[in-house]
Amino acid sequence: MRVLITGGAGFLGSHLCERFLAEGHTVVAMDNLITGSTDNIAHLIGNERFSFIKHNVSNYIYLDGPVDAVLHFASPASPNDYLEHPIHTLKVGSLGTLNTIGLAKAKGARYLLASTSEVYGDPQVNPQPESYWGHVNPIGPRGVYDEAKRFAEAMTMAYQRYHGVETRIVRIFNTYGPRMRLNDGRVVPNFIKQALLGEPLTVYMGGQQTRSFQYCSDLVEGVYRLLFSDERLPVNIGNPNEMTIVDFAREVIRISGSSSEIHYVEPTDERITDDPKVRRPDISKARRVLGWEPVVGLEAGLRKTLDYFRGRV
Ligand code: UDP
Repeated sequence: MRVLITGGAGFLGSHLCERFLAEGHTVVAMDNLITGSTDNIAHLIGNERFSFIKHNVSNYIYLDGPVDAVLHFASPASPNDYLEHPIHTLKVGSLGTLNTIGLAKAKGARYLLASTSEVYGDPQVNPQPESYWGHVNPIGPRGVYDEAKRFAEAMTMAYQRYHGVETRIVRIFNTYGPRMRLNDGRVVPNFIKQALLGEPLTVYMGGQQTRSFQYCSDLVEGVYRLLFSDERLPVNIGNPNEMTIVDFAREVIRISGSSSEIHYVEPTDERITDDPKVRRPDISKARRVLGWEPVVGLEAGLRKTLDYFRGRV
């Protein structure tokens, strides 16, 4: 297959490029490098089945030749990034989805949308099954990401129903691993960087809010299976191992062998506005329709991520 991966120079996009190349496919990565980096794909340049195009997919996309699958992974994905780039975030989820799914329609390609657990907002149901409609504040700082992704899902379903495009939607829960940006502001790189430097781990809002962290190779496996499955409705892909943020901080300190302390801080900016109090995927559907479940535990995943960050702090 010839596969277009938008956001291909990003954290998850670059891991997907590797996987599709390893399976023998041809990959075109597209990225405008706002939050992605060519460092993430430098090792793929030279592979004759790989090419990179620097382009903002919120603008019209021209791509020569056949395309068999389009995976739309381009978007700022860290709360800090979408606070810094609110309009780009809205555009890539709306116009970027329109352009990429329009390309899929024109090429007769299968389409896979990277959606997010943020479509559930600050959920009032825990864990979150795909049938939950969510609890999103459209005008808060996270609204630019959450609503763009909700719009993207609506657009994807409309192209499926109205134009008959073969579409897939993955709702991605917190994912971590090598190639996250050290300074993207998310909890995993923040805590790892702080632990490696012996600085205090900055736990926001008392640390009783929960998240469930998935290692990137599990996500890639889930996405790969979903693309080739017959499932046309959204599927959660995440690790159901839910923990409080303060417990997560303790795990990072323990696994890294750091002497860092935990500091409770109250950011005064918009970073924590509408911060979800709980988050945990219900993955029964992924188990049922994809035969998928995560296989990398937190300790193993964090060790690999620590190795990556050790050379970079
Ligand atoms: N968080 C924290 N300290 C940090 C960064 C984040 O306590 O240095 C908290 C944040 O308030 C949130 C959780 O960790 O409750 C996960 O935040 P992240 O930015 O990774 O992404 P989110 O899951 O909110 O999209």
